[in-house]
This record gives sequence, structure tokens and C-alpha cells, in this order.
Amino acid sequence: MRKICVVGTGYVGLVTGACLSDLGHKVICVDVDKSKIAMLRKNVMPIYEPGLAEIVKKNIKSGRLSFSTNLGESVKSSETIFIAVGTPPRDDGSADLSFVETVASQIAANMNSYKLIVDKSTVPVETGEWVEMTIKRNIKKNVEFDVASNPEFLREGSAVYDTFNPDRIVIGVKSKRAENLLKEIYAPIKAPVLVTDIKSAEIIKHASNSYLAMKISYINAVANLCEKTGADVAKVAEGMGMDKRIGRSFLNAGIGFGGFCFPKDLEAFYWISKKMGFDFKLLKEVKEINEYQRKLLVKKIEEAVWNLKGKTIGVLGLAFKPDTDDMRFAPSVDIIAMLQEHGARIQAYDPAAMKKAKMILKGVTFKKNAYDAAKGADCLVIVTEWNEFKELDLSKVRRLLKHPIIIDGRNIFEPQVMKKLDITYKSMGR
Ligand code: NAD
Repeated sequence: MRKICVVGTGYVGLVTGACLSDLGHKVICVDVDKSKIAMLRKNVMPIYEPGLAEIVKKNIKSGRLSFSTNLGESVKSSETIFIAVGTPPRDDGSADLSFVETVASQIAANMNSYKLIVDKSTVPVETGEWVEMTIKRNIKKNVEFDVASNPEFLREGSAVYDTFNPDRIVIGVKSKRAENLLKEIYAPIKAPVLVTDIKSAEIIKHASNSYLAMKISYINAVANLCEKTGADVAKVAEGMGMDKRIGRSFLNAGIGFGGFCFPKDLEAFYWISKKMGFDFKLLKEVKEINEYQRKLLVKKIEEAVWNLKGKTIGVLGLAFKPDTDDMRFAPSVDIIAMLQEHGARIQAYDPAAMKKAKMILKGVTFKKNAYDAAKGADCLVIVTEWNEFKELDLSKVRRLLKHPIIIDGRNIFEPQVMKKLDITYKSMGR
């Protein structure tokens, strides 16, 4: 059992803290957001994440998991401190590291014995050095400390599962003491542990996310060629994916990636490369293809309904991907804005993200279910590939729509099925 403090109770911090307590450690999760901590203490989850509420409840009861707004006391009573605060993009695309800096200096001011400070937030290379420097500048007592990088690879929607079953655990360290401590913390998890220097660990995270984003943009570019030639991108992806060197994952053509990670990490990786003296132009192209896909979807809708002005568009799916309520950098936000700019009226439904969507999307009518979003619409658009949309009664949808038109930004339906139902159907790259 190790004493751990996790700073930041967002998707990463909360899941990490809860899972580490479930592994047998004593964990305090800290956040500046008082309302979040109050909710968590009452076992109300601030985010939607399968399995999370259960392990939080179980470990609060066992006494291994607690929540606090008091960073100082939490640091004092812990040995390892994970920094899991946000690293949002600045206007120029670089990562805003001010939350990391604030936390590092607060940790320094409260260090009363040896501490291992682990950066779990996604950060550009050399952040570890800055964290170390910040601690040295703000430390009050003459105590030893280590800084480490332990990037997180969990996916929203399966964050608990991913934390217990990662493909790898990356540990970037400078000392054997830090390496052994982190290995002990993660010992109950059966996964390969890769030990590297801190800078390599930082780059592993940015390089991995940018690679996955590149794979998505690659298949989307291929999809656009397929569309122009009459080929079927689903078949092309299947054929490519059968090659073990390529693999089938992340080859689903559609309207591209969104969310809090891929877009910002891609930008931040481009920015830090440039700062270091390398113009990583490939990453710029990945971003451009991604943005093009959203415009392409709007163009397809416009081509199907002729004039968008005054038309009602039913939108299915608002979250940036299925099984999450996360709306950050969701493609739906841009797509709806473009449709509204052209004068369309939007009626939308999402199984989990409506509460968050209501705070972001203006002028949208939110519906109780998918059928209500289809009712009376000139066209129905699939933006997020939730499973419940795949199971819709399409004959019923057809009856409810004003005109039987479906534009599928995620290729969840089969064109032949749509043809049989006499629905005008357009998808991506098929
Ligand atoms: P988030 O915005 O959901 O959570 C961050 C939390 O940090 C918030 O609750 C905020 O109140 C808190 N915070 C900010 N400043 C603080 C301070 N000074 N003291 C205490 N708490 C503070 O963010 P997230 O999605 O959990 O992401 C956190 C980091 O992990 C980011 O760097 C992100 O890129 C990375 N990451 C995210 C994911 C993901 O799927 N969301 C996956 C891997 C890595």
C-alpha cells in the first residue's frame, strides 16, 4: 500500500485515483473545483464513465479513497503525487502549462518529506525539466524529491477498463528510486512496463496520439478518393487492416476526430517540434484533412436538401465519440455552427451529452430520443456512432422524417439496406 495524491479530478485524475485505490493504495484526489469535490464525496460522478461510480463507492467505503480541496494537506500526507490537471490549447496551438506550473509550485511549498512528483497530464517534451525547476524554486524544506513522467493512454468511455488493462505502462524517470516506486504502485496491473528517460516518455504520448490522428486522416483522405472513383472505403480499410503491419483499428472513415486529446495534442506536438527547430509539416496536413471532413459533411447535407435556409436538420450524436458525455472539440459543434450559419434549424439528440451540449450549443432544440430528432426533419444526420443509433427501426425513422434522407457521417448503416427502404442515403467514402 502506497500513499498517493492525485491532483485534478477530471477524466484522467478521477479514474486514476479511483483505480489506484482499488489496487489497494491509499489515495486522496484533490481539485480546486469545490462543487466537483462536494459531488464526489456524495458519490455523484461529475463525468459519465462506465464502472466508475461503482469503484468510487466501493473504495470510499473501504477508506482507501477520499476527496479534498486542500492540496497542501494532501501533499503532506502522501508520498507520490500525480499531476493530472488540464493542459488545454492556447490560441496559437501550444499547450497551456500554467495549471501544471501552479500545482508544481504548490506541491513544492508543502513538501515535508521525500516526494515523487509524477506528471500524468499530457505535456510537451521538456515539461519535466520545468516541473523540477519550479519545485526547486519554491521548495521550503530541505527534502529530497524526484520528478517522473507517466503519460496516460486511457480512452474516455472505457477509461476504467483501460486503466486496469493498458497496452503498456510508460515510466519516464531519472532515478532508480522513482522507477521502483512507480513499478510498485502499478505492480498489480499485468501490463508491460517501459522505463525511459523523462523526455522520451513525454514524446511517446504526443507521438502516439498524433500517429492515431494521422491514421484517421489517412483513411479519410483515402475515403475521399474512393468516393470519386466509386470504390468502397470500408472494403479498402478491411483490406489494408488485414496487413498486420497496418492493423484495422483507427481506419474508420468519417467526419474525423475530435475530443479533448487528439486535436490539442496534434497541435501541441506540431508547436513543440517547431519550437525545437523541426517543422513537422505532416501534422499540419493531418489537421487540414480533419477539418475538411466536417465541411464535406455539411456539403453533402446541402446537396441533399438543396438550400439549407429554413430546413430542419435532425442531428444524431453530439459527444465527440460514443460512450462519453464529453463535448470538448466535438465535430458536432463545428458542423451545427456551419448548418446554422446557412440558416438551418437543428433538432438534436445524444444519449449522454445533452446536458453538456446545452451549455455549448445555442439555438438548438434538444429532443428526448432519436425518433423525436428525426420527426419532421428534412434530413437526418449521423454525427456520433452510438450503438443505439445502429439499432434504430429505420422504417419508423423513414415514416417520421419529412423527407427520407439520411446523411451518415460515421458509416453506421449499409447502403443496400437504405436502398431497399427507399431512403436517400449518403455516407463517407462509399
Ligand atoms: P479535465 O479538464 O477533465 O480535468 C482537469 C481537472 O484539473 C479539473 O477538474 C480541474 O478543476 C482540475 N484542476 C485544474 N487546476 C487545478 C489545481 N491548481 N489544483 C487542483 N486541480 C486543478 O482534464 P482531463 O481530461 O482529465 O485531462 C487531464 C490531462 O490528461 C490533460 O493533460 C489531458 O491531455 C490528459 N489526458 C486526457 C485523456 C482523456 O481522455 N481525457 C487521456 C489521456 C491523457
